[in-house]
Amino acid sequence: MSDLSALPLREDLRGEIPYGAPQIDVPVCLNVNENPYPPSPSLIADVAAAVATVTGRLNRYPDREATQLRADLVGYLKRFEQVEVSPAQVWAANGSNEVMHQLLQAFGGPGRSVLGFSPSYSMYPQYCRDTFTTYITEPREADFSLDPDVAVKAVRTHRPVITLLTSPNNPTGTALSLGTAEAVLLAAGEHGGLVVVDEAYGEFRRPGTPSALGLLDLHPNLVVTRTMSKAFAYAGARLGYLVASAAIVDAVRIVRLPYHLSAVTQAVASAAIAHANELLAQVEALRAERDTTVDWLRSNGFTVADSDANFVLFGRFDDRRATWQALLDRGVLVRETGPQGWLRVSIGTAEEMNAFKQALLDVTKEGKA
Ligand code: PMP
Repeated sequence: MSDLSALPLREDLRGEIPYGAPQIDVPVCLNVNENPYPPSPSLIADVAAAVATVTGRLNRYPDREATQLRADLVGYLKRFEQVEVSPAQVWAANGSNEVMHQLLQAFGGPGRSVLGFSPSYSMYPQYCRDTFTTYITEPREADFSLDPDVAVKAVRTHRPVITLLTSPNNPTGTALSLGTAEAVLLAAGEHGGLVVVDEAYGEFRRPGTPSALGLLDLHPNLVVTRTMSKAFAYAGARLGYLVASAAIVDAVRIVRLPYHLSAVTQAVASAAIAHANELLAQVEALRAERDTTVDWLRSNGFTVADSDANFVLFGRFDDRRATWQALLDRGVLVRETGPQGWLRVSIGTAEEMNAFKQALLDVTKEGKA
């Protein structure tokens, strides 16, 4: 970082650094919950054709309303989540990070608060910082679940403009029960608050774990956010979206920058949605690999949080930094995040997971785990 002291930087940003996990070039990269499968040759061909088409019109601004893409997302939700919404209820932006930022720009601000439940995604405090919104957290249970009574009490105490429920939660992998989501939606509704269920990893949930999308009809204060970064193996494309009432979408449209979503992004995202079948088959493989990884870790004496996501939180290590480093020395990059003593590993290909397991066994033998 340069020396910023001479700059008229906002006082509350002094000492802050840009957020992000280390981007280290290693053989086995399992640290940012990416999907390990690159796009197939047929998806690459379709993306190239879609880009060629829009490139002929790049002298023009893109469709501000992303009409085609929102219609395609509606089709995806209907087909794969059995949820019927209209394009007016769907909004897209550059990653669900930008979606959340826009939500906070529209609904946050000075004198307003957001309530989350820790440990959770480390960007939440930053969205709040950027929008002068107070971020409040209450603890999760020891198994990282959310006790509905604790959550409802916290909502009634803090009266946040947004209650953030992450399901599956990052970095713990914990899914939320619909009963808890409904209790929080009702409690937040008492003071006119919104509830955002961040389902960035929604497609990885285990059979029987429901999505909050099914609650949209009954709860006008619900926002569900999703992303193509994980299930669609499209982190580099930057496409996230929300599903909510048309009124909430209209509120977000007030603060979005004009033409925030490039014509290229819109076309590239639509091309991938047309390949949802093949992409979701890979999600299926990753879910199986995740369950195998959990079993393997447990049978080797590690403590593992139940996971509905494409990553697993495992531990517990006296010196997790030493374990993280020892794994990295063997070419395996995991994430040092979450509560002390735990590490998070993203689910990669079977070969990558074998490399991870072998490295972890070696590190354990050497007494570094
Ligand atoms: N929410 C959660 C819980 C996440 O873990 C992430 C990414 N790590 C995001 C949102 C943002 O994802 P993206 O901006 O790539 O859609």
